[in-house]
Amino acid sequence: MPKAVALYSGGLDSLLAILTVKEQNIEVVAFKFLTGFGNALKQEDEDLARKFSFELKEVDIREKFLEILKNPRYGYGKNLNPCIDCKILMLKEAKTIMHQYNAEFIVTGEVSGQRPMSQKKGIFSLMEKETLLKGLILRPLSAKLLPPTIPELKGVIDRNLLYDISGRTRNPQIALAKKFGIEKIPQPAGGCLLTDPSFCKKVRDLFEHDELTIENTELLRIGRHFRISDRCKIIVGRNESENETLLKINKGVFLFPSDFKGPVVFLSGTYSEREIQVAASICVYYSKRKNTEIVIKNGITENKKNYDAILEQEVVKYRL
Ligand code: SF4
Repeated sequence: MPKAVALYSGGLDSLLAILTVKEQNIEVVAFKFLTGFGNALKQEDEDLARKFSFELKEVDIREKFLEILKNPRYGYGKNLNPCIDCKILMLKEAKTIMHQYNAEFIVTGEVSGQRPMSQKKGIFSLMEKETLLKGLILRPLSAKLLPPTIPELKGVIDRNLLYDISGRTRNPQIALAKKFGIEKIPQPAGGCLLTDPSFCKKVRDLFEHDELTIENTELLRIGRHFRISDRCKIIVGRNESENETLLKINKGVFLFPSDFKGPVVFLSGTYSEREIQVAASICVYYSKRKNTEIVIKNGITENKKNYDAILEQEVVKYRL
């Protein structure tokens, strides 16, 4: 049976593309690429793969993705999303996998004219050129609007059974989902945080302070973030689960109320007594009791101090 490698985003379009190809007796191995800014595979993804009988795997491209995020050749989208470079990176990774799996082509759920990126003239051929995958990227949802690919020309894929969907309307996809028996419609895309302006503000801060690492970007998903000096940043847990996650970090300094009626504050970077004081004040500010003893712990030493000053103005000033 001919084999194809699919890019799986977790959204409806990539699932429909996979099912359209599978319907033509093609074995599909789907890959979710982990950029560090989207979702990892969830139980629902595994359930869908099992229900529709395709193999689904995860590939960690976080390191490579950070490099393109720092300096995207084709620039950013509306926010800090380097979509063109990101797609090219994913296709290059898929190409390596295609060879490893002896697959014949790559499948994506891209729809012509659906996103600002794909509305740009010649963008699909630019991707083929950059990845040296000319004729080997099949976009089943828009294929009839695009030049025939190699699997179509070879008769491995019947072009008549592909689609001519374009633009932002979701109606054809919803109808197709019904046809395939997809009961719960997944969201259109994989929820990339780089399209969220408030999240991008925190990413920019890491950029500006030369702190853009995988570990630091993972931490952007939790807590309240404060830049309290050029050399020091703090994160405040918003609930028990975030407090626990922060306490697992094996570097930096932690502050928390001795009665645990308040947040864990994680302080990273270089700090002096001044930064500790600001962190303690922010810890008090978000605690249930204002007159509380704060524990300061750096993994080796631990001491307790009373910080009853609430520097509300400082809190506002430092918030990212
Ligand atoms: S939205 Fe995010 S994951 Fe999607 S193509 Fe753009 S950068 Fe990549």
